[in-house]
Amino acid sequence: MTRAGIVTVVGKPNAGKSTLLNRLIGEKLSITSEKPQSTRDRIVGITTKDDVQMIVLDTPGLLEPRYELQRSMRATARKALDDADVIVYLADARDGAPPPLRKAAELDREPRAPIIVALNKVDALTDHAREALRRDAPDAVHISALTGEGIHELQQAITAHLPESPFLYPEDEIGTQSLRFFASELVRETALEQLQDEVPYSVACGIEEFREDRSPVYIRAVIYVERESQKGILVGHQGARIRELGRAARVKIERLVRKPVYLDLWVKVLPNWRRNIHSLRRLGYALPEEPRR
Ligand code: GDP
Ligand code: MG
Repeated sequence: MTRAGIVTVVGKPNAGKSTLLNRLIGEKLSITSEKPQSTRDRIVGITTKDDVQMIVLDTPGLLEPRYELQRSMRATARKALDDADVIVYLADARDGAPPPLRKAAELDREPRAPIIVALNKVDALTDHAREALRRDAPDAVHISALTGEGIHELQQAITAHLPESPFLYPEDEIGTQSLRFFASELVRETALEQLQDEVPYSVACGIEEFREDRSPVYIRAVIYVERESQKGILVGHQGARIRELGRAARVKIERLVRKPVYLDLWVKVLPNWRRNIHSLRRLGYALPEEPRR
């Protein structure tokens, strides 16, 4: 009998959710960044090993809804919790044992699905701190998404909670979201890597054309920023910055699609897109389901 189900990974920004997702799926699907809040969309990856299929959801950080985008992220994360068969509650082990998920996420009721607490980044702990953590959080699984330590144990804990079920997707499927989406995420990830200060949070990416029938594959992507000054920073002196960004993003996309790519990259100003619900909709973000507070 096979097992299959939805595994939702939830935790504070920077806990290592995207890194864990990549580790579980074994393909670079979810973007990772040193800067918090870089995952704005729920990303579905699928892994099938032996008799077990996990459909893994990454969630945006469960944050205080401070502006439209963050409310949208929060609503998406709550939806992912509702859909879960198993919840992996991920926390940075360097912060000690985390508060209960219900409290941390301000949920009005306990989630339906069983919760596995996973303490990540144990590679960064001293032996002494590791021992203390085992005492303080004996039920948690101690892992390093970065080195792979404890991942097998986590997979076993997840599997034990998955319902018996036929596989929900074909075995060779790595993700249900289109290459188009991942390409836009890779462009945005590259922008996050190459830019400093407050510009990254004003960056969104849209794919306007994706022609797989051509060689090289033709992709026209637009990076949206909020202000002219940000556009200037992105484009750089005589276009040097955007050329370098485009080159680096193209290399990543080629790795994803496994074909040569021509990336036609543009920068456009979309004033205050973060606060503008219509822009959010146009860029494909999930819209908040919870009422305004
Ligand atoms: P997310 O915001 O929860 O999706 O976190 P990310 O996966 O983007 O990771 C945030 C940062 O923590 C990145 O710089 C990762 O490289 C780092 N990180 C993730 N997992 C580990 C780990 O197991 N050990 C260490 N030392 N760093 C990690
Ligand atoms: Mg992330």
